Amino acid sequence: MSNTESIGAALKGCSTVLISTHKSPDGDALGSQLGLMLALEKLNKIVTVHNLDPVPEIYRFLPHNERIKIGKPVQDRYDAYIVLDADPPRTGLFEKSYPADVLINIDHHITNPREWPLTWLDPYASACGEMVYMLIRELGVPLDREIALCLYTAIFTDTGSFRYSNTSPQSMRIAAALLEVGVDPWLVTENVYESVAFRRLKLLGTVLSHMDRSSDGRVSWVVVTDEFYRQTGTTAEDTDNFVNFVRSVKGVEVAVLFRQTNNTQYKISMRSKGRVDLSGLAQSFGGGGHKNAAGGVLDGSLEEVKKRVIGDVERIVAAHLGKGGATLDGRRS
Ligand code: 5GP
Ligand code: MN
Repeated sequence: MSNTESIGAALKGCSTVLISTHKSPDGDALGSQLGLMLALEKLNKIVTVHNLDPVPEIYRFLPHNERIKIGKPVQDRYDAYIVLDADPPRTGLFEKSYPADVLINIDHHITNPREWPLTWLDPYASACGEMVYMLIRELGVPLDREIALCLYTAIFTDTGSFRYSNTSPQSMRIAAALLEVGVDPWLVTENVYESVAFRRLKLLGTVLSHMDRSSDGRVSWVVVTDEFYRQTGTTAEDTDNFVNFVRSVKGVEVAVLFRQTNNTQYKISMRSKGRVDLSGLAQSFGGGGHKNAAGGVLDGSLEEVKKRVIGDVERIVAAHLGKGGATLDGRRS
């Protein structure tokens, strides 16, 4: 049986379904979650959607996003529990046991440890939304505009608007099918990229004004501190995608963003231009992700965390690309 057939078969006897996704949910996480919710409801399933963190403002245009329950705890038991776009612990909702008999994990992160027997992992899928699209087809549910809008948003955001190397002929074919159902692409663009909160741009200005880089310019980084949030009236959700500005600098192979989560803890976001694989490095400090986009969380002071991560990144850049050439001021490194 194919993955979609096994999941379809497992869901057949289930009437109540819980769907969750990862902490700090993004467009793929939320689009996949709401798209699958709507499709399962067409099969008369009773669906609950529940995440640890709230829906960021830019995704509040997604249909029925207000139905997502937020925070701990999940109170009821369900026939099936589906975790999307993450390995189950990254929901942050459960310590050990999960509240259902049928456990289904659908994800495209190569670092997923396949904790659940019914794990469908496709690292070649550009977005979890692509996989949900395939599942919905397997379930025989016809697409409507709401489902299509959710899945289009998932693929559009995880491919960086069809620019990243994960964009495949299949991503484009699925996106085309979703547009044919009547998705308005500008609606998604306008909400996600053209409705930036004023405070967010102020924060970006502050963060970028402190941007730093290694002596050969191949590694560059920024830090987001609690102090910056206070100055600009922002929160963590306002930092989404900041690391991409750092990667865009000429000569940068790997960009890193350190985001303070408390006094002694930092969330790490890393981006590669494609010549350096970051997934193993993220895993080595307990995180995960893809080749070109990976992250995790580290405890320690900013200096300690920075020293460790930048040191490791410089080492893997050198391992992938050899020693750096001239330093930025013209000396040899
Ligand atoms: P971001 O930098 O946007 O938070 O994440 C980049 C990629 O790495 C995403 O695909 C995300 O799912 C993954 N990632 C980020 N943080 C973690 C983490 O703490 N654990 C795991 N397993 N993956 C992460
Ligand atoms: Mn994703």
